[in-house]
Amino acid sequence: MAEAAGRFPMAVTPYYASLIRCLDTSDPVFSMCIPDGRETADPPFLEDDPLGEEADMAVPGLVHRYRDRALLLATTTCAAYCRHCTRKRAAGQTETRIAPARLAQAVDYLSVHPEIHDVIISGGDPFTLGTHALERIIRAVRNVPSVDIIRIGTRTPVVLPMRIDDGLVRMLRRYRPVYVNLHFNHPAELTPAAEAACERLADAGVPLGNQTVLLRGVNDNAPLLAELFRRLLRVRVRPYYLFQCDLVRGVEHFRTPLARGIEIMEYLRGRLSGLAIPTFVVDAPHGGGKIPILPNYIVSTSPTHTVLRNFAGDLVSYPEPYREPDGLSPAAAGPRAADGVWALACGVRVPAETCALAHPASFRRARTGYT
Ligand SMILES: *Cc1c(COP(=O)(O)O)cnc(C)c1O
Ligand code: SF4
Repeated sequence: MAEAAGRFPMAVTPYYASLIRCLDTSDPVFSMCIPDGRETADPPFLEDDPLGEEADMAVPGLVHRYRDRALLLATTTCAAYCRHCTRKRAAGQTETRIAPARLAQAVDYLSVHPEIHDVIISGGDPFTLGTHALERIIRAVRNVPSVDIIRIGTRTPVVLPMRIDDGLVRMLRRYRPVYVNLHFNHPAELTPAAEAACERLADAGVPLGNQTVLLRGVNDNAPLLAELFRRLLRVRVRPYYLFQCDLVRGVEHFRTPLARGIEIMEYLRGRLSGLAIPTFVVDAPHGGGKIPILPNYIVSTSPTHTVLRNFAGDLVSYPEPYREPDGLSPAAAGPRAADGVWALACGVRVPAETCALAHPASFRRARTGYT
């Protein structure tokens, strides 16, 4: 523990520490905030800055990777330091906030780049700034006419929910639209205090999203995440992203195979309100950007039909806009033509379970076209 704490900073709020039920890594809250010797493991493919954020900095502290949005690193301080942090190279290594001259430089850049409509204020955790200090940053960004949306990424409602006080929400209201993305990873974090913090933000008209990081031994469990996402929705937080753990030095012990995330997405679809289902994303190494990963729902495709499967595993033949058939005719394919997915792809076969799931009229039309 001492070796890991020497390498990556440690801070835990008394509130968050109070959620620990068991003093070892079987406890999800313990795992997320208490240094672990495994953080010093150093496989060759891990990096300090796997997302290439330093390389994409337009000016110091402003990452401009996607054309229409930019990421402003407002502070390197957090209320508690996550052992799985993707910015371990920066968060808490020194606790600094963006200097006025740097902020002015970032705002100048935004002013001469009117294609940027969405500015994400992140860090570190922007809610660790005093309300007035945070307001100075938000106001400066808001004064750029081409900026439509301001987003704030924060874990404060999870680790220090009492920070979400009246003064803060009143200030945020004045600069709307301000969206806030939270970082809940486990149902144990959704305490009455944390839920109340979410409700205060929602009551102030702040749309809330949540970004969960998939962590081995903490939340890589489909029913557990289903519960988390359902409970978030109840306090008006919309699950936004489920992140595959980045290739960051110090987090190897948290990484899951990609297959685990796909399996979890498979479980959620059909079981949970669509509003509660986040997009599973991999943030590609070296600044490649976020890549959404879905289970495969397209089984096969032809110019006339696409064969899909639903959450239950039933095959569905979806007829494309009608045109005269020009593919292989069922007769030419031989006597067993009506078998298999090929038959679905050219509209010859419609399995019994499909009829119940698809629009009957489009099926009749497809069938008269091909058989
Ligand atoms: C994640 C990220 C964004 C925001 O991406 P969205 O998909 O719009 O949430 C913007 N800039 C950078 C550098 C990012 O990593
Ligand atoms: S709150 Fe965010 S920036 Fe801070 S340590 Fe946790 S993941 Fe990293």
